[in-house]
Amino acid sequence: MKEQPAIQIDDLTVAYNYKPVLWDIDLTVPEGVLMAIVGPNGAGKSTLIKAILGIIDPIAGSVRVFGKAYKEQRKLVGYVPQKGSVDWDFPTTALDVVMMGTYGRLGWIKRPGNDQKKASLEALEKVGMLAFKNRQISHLSGGQQQRVFLARALVQDATIYLMDEPFQGVDATTEIAIINILKELRKRGKTVVVVHHDLQTVPEYFDWVTFLNVKKIATGPVKDIFNDDNLTKTYGINYKVAINN
Ligand code: ADP
Repeated sequence: MKEQPAIQIDDLTVAYNYKPVLWDIDLTVPEGVLMAIVGPNGAGKSTLIKAILGIIDPIAGSVRVFGKAYKEQRKLVGYVPQKGSVDWDFPTTALDVVMMGTYGRLGWIKRPGNDQKKASLEALEKVGMLAFKNRQISHLSGGQQQRVFLARALVQDATIYLMDEPFQGVDATTEIAIINILKELRKRGKTVVVVHHDLQTVPEYFDWVTFLNVKKIATGPVKDIFNDDNLTKTYGINYKVAINN
């Protein structure tokens, strides 16, 4: 399994109402990278994550996760959705949400036990949300919900993590907590793919980057490709202007 890239996307085209929002994307994500997906609003970043997860059907192309279709590899993939994108219309505590992350490793009949509860409490502590464990998820702020989702992804013990703007609207302390967790995941050999907006932090936070604007502009190591040329091609404006916004 390990010889295969974590994610392999070939000729992927996705359209909404016949309007292509991703066009003929070829993308290889090697195992073990901490990768940012950057691009302007509407570039198709969230759509790319959803296409990898099979939430959206492409009109052409394929996505492979360690060489197989996503549905065969579901357990290997942890997903942290965009803040505020989940509507909670039933009462569930923060701890319940994290415990759900352990279900994939249990059989159909087994219920989560003490080990799962302990792991879930540890994960909540790691993201600084232990004090909120009994709070209903719908009664948490968007940033706090985001941290609970991160804790859920941690207990899931996935191999690949897909995160849609985990830093969106969080305070500085939370941002540091999140990036430390992402770096720890990479240290443990995980592959982490993050939709990211803040261009200034890309070189500090990530080792791999994909520039996207409907088409793939470039992908590779940050030190090699995070430059004026690719930023200008992606954002259509001068790099220094883009980085100051
Ligand atoms: P990004 O994450 O880069 O901001 P998205 O992937 O969310 O971009 O959206 C890409 C394009 O697809 C945008 O033009 C957006 O308006 C459009 N889009 C996203 N979701 C839908 C949808 N459910 N129906 C129709 N158009 C959509």
